[in-house]
Amino acid sequence: MGKVTIALHDARAGLPMPAARGAPAGVPVDARGRGLRDLRISVTDRCNFRCTYCMPKEVFDADHPFLPHAEILSFEEIVRVARVFRSLGTAKIRLTGGEPLLRRGIERLVAMLRAELPGVDLTLTTNGSALKALARPLKAAGLDRITVSLDSLDDTTFRAMNDVDFPVARVLEGLEAADAAGLAPVKVNMVVKRGVNDHQVVDMARHFRGTGKIVRFIEFMDVGSTNGWRMDDVIPSAEIVRRVGGHFPLVAADPQYKGEVAERWRYADGAGEIGVISSVTQAFCATCTRARLSTDGHLYTCLFAQQGYDLKRMIRGGADDDALAGAIAGIWEGRADRYSEIRTAETAKARKVEMSYIGG
Ligand code: SAM
Repeated sequence: MGKVTIALHDARAGLPMPAARGAPAGVPVDARGRGLRDLRISVTDRCNFRCTYCMPKEVFDADHPFLPHAEILSFEEIVRVARVFRSLGTAKIRLTGGEPLLRRGIERLVAMLRAELPGVDLTLTTNGSALKALARPLKAAGLDRITVSLDSLDDTTFRAMNDVDFPVARVLEGLEAADAAGLAPVKVNMVVKRGVNDHQVVDMARHFRGTGKIVRFIEFMDVGSTNGWRMDDVIPSAEIVRRVGGHFPLVAADPQYKGEVAERWRYADGAGEIGVISSVTQAFCATCTRARLSTDGHLYTCLFAQQGYDLKRMIRGGADDDALAGAIAGIWEGRADRYSEIRTAETAKARKVEMSYIGG
């Protein structure tokens, strides 16, 4: 997978909790003043789709070394790490992957997290393929909201992009099931790639206008090192807003909280809103408060990281919660990354961890 990991030095486990600037004692702030508000947890590195921009078939084939079961964090281990993050100020947890609904018993993990962390904002990102059956159990287990990825409403385009011939209709069924289960507001993620699905941008907006579902158009990013990213393939968010706004006038909306990833635009006629995620053309590193926990328990402080920190070794080595909290706080305080602000064609070629492993 091209991942390079740094095992935490044992001495680090004994670090005292660092004091944070302008934050409650024990809540870490990184070298650029960013708190640790969000945790994304990749619960599996496997997916049943082979989206060409994420897990291209030629790389993620039958010979691909997916993680063996023993290397994957158990639900108990995930809950423990989440609890420690919560103690460090994390307010939001997103389960992702890979495809998180492929992880057997995912609703049990949701229930465990909910029981342990009643006040946390708990959400999940999925390709929607198994959502029809799982939407209700996930809601009943305590999931707050859900984001479903859907790159096109045109069946031919969608089947080509997921590269496993999966039909749009089944994702739409999953979306409706999520809505009916009360996992609202349902968000719909569309990665826009020039010449591949950008002709679908306005159709997508039109389809979900007035439904309460929020489409978020995502700039194609140079995550990992297998998706052949080129700047020319990126449709800047400003162009998305222009295209959608040309059909349905849009008004800029305020962020709901500091550091919100998507820039929000409301339909002027009150039919709801869209979001644009501009990691490439308008980097939002300055307000990034997200940590990522890989399927095998490595902590990453940037989606574009080349290395992570081996928390699993600590967990399985007997470290207690204080030691774990001290280590995480220490890692966060040392964080200075701002990849999207310094991206060039050259940095894009660097070997970065794959999104399916680190968690999208
Ligand atoms: N399997 C789940 C899904 O399909 O939503 C969760 C994991 S997926 C890696 C999370 C999100 O990352 C999806 O919305 C996906 O479209 C997006 N994504 C993957 N590769 C991307 C890329 N190169 N640029 C932008 N977004 C990407």
